[in-house]
Amino acid sequence: MSCPVCSGKGEVLTSQARSVTSESKVIERRSELVLCTSCGHLHTEIDLDLAAYYADDYDAVLTDDDGHDEIVTTTDGSVVFRTDLDYGTFRKKVLERTEPSAAVFEYGCGRGRILSRLRKDGFSDLTAHDVGRRYREPLARIVGADRVHLGERPTDRKYDVLCSFFAFEHDPDPISGLRYLRSIAAPSAILYLVVPSHATNVVDLACADHRSHFAADVLVEVVTACGFSVLEVDEESSVGAIVLVARNLGAGTRPVRKSRERVKAARVRAQTFLDYVARLERLAPELAASREIYLYGAAFYATLAATVLPSDTHLAGLFDANPKKHGTTKLGTTVRSPDAIEQSCREAALLVCVNERIAPSIADRYRSSFRQIWVV
Ligand SMILES: [Zn+2]
Repeated sequence: MSCPVCSGKGEVLTSQARSVTSESKVIERRSELVLCTSCGHLHTEIDLDLAAYYADDYDAVLTDDDGHDEIVTTTDGSVVFRTDLDYGTFRKKVLERTEPSAAVFEYGCGRGRILSRLRKDGFSDLTAHDVGRRYREPLARIVGADRVHLGERPTDRKYDVLCSFFAFEHDPDPISGLRYLRSIAAPSAILYLVVPSHATNVVDLACADHRSHFAADVLVEVVTACGFSVLEVDEESSVGAIVLVARNLGAGTRPVRKSRERVKAARVRAQTFLDYVARLERLAPELAASREIYLYGAAFYATLAATVLPSDTHLAGLFDANPKKHGTTKLGTTVRSPDAIEQSCREAALLVCVNERIAPSIADRYRSSFRQIWVV
């Protein structure tokens, strides 16, 4: 149960008998949310061989431009696809000041949704790294077979830009991963990291295969300890995520330091999550008593809600604003467009299962279409 970034001792904050993975799958394995009382890092312990899981079972939800993608609602209320937002932010913060001839390395690239955008934008010196063996073919089509490294870390050259999108939260040993990136960084190379933020998306703390739940203060400490100089960190530009930009200025590495302030701040953030789960559990009897329940949102929040519903609960339907999900099956029912809501739901109840920032406005929009609406 030691901390993945400082090996410090942990305190178990909560445990779940059934766990939800980042692919929104329920697995019958116990998981625990743990706070490192030395450095303030929040992490999950799960009774599952994560290395084997990522190599063989995990399938990156986000693919290239033609495939499935998540939608996110930005702070100004507009709805965008995750890859457009991630790549757009990367371009604004780094690529607009980078020559197309720069050597770019992506750590944990999945099927290559970011690499394919880079290629389309004229970047030609691209190297792909991941642990998932199933990504070889799609990656080879984007960067060339000799630039694909699955389950191994190339050390034969240096790179100008090192990037990683939603990978380090899965990494069982993020310090080793970041020190590796430092070892292949050219002088003045840029490091660009994106990881989930539980400060802006509280249910990330329920995500059982996220070994690490980074906070901005912990991430800055970890990246600095691995030899990079942090230029900026923000939790606004990429919804539900922390974006960090750092530079290799030749500093050495050191251990992650203890901090009482970080531990204290982590306790406050974790309490927000524990309160959310408590509200969900209090709702369960009411939900179970309702004859006809619909869910709004076909992603992680819905799966988490489903873990508290009695197993014989019949879902009448599921709505999601993402057109790429319409017609797919989730929690045993078909995902439909919210446009279908007006027709037939007046005797039914709706549970809104989306980020709590946007849940109240969705509840307001459909208030007259249902007998009852719950927001967790
Ligand atoms: Zn720690």
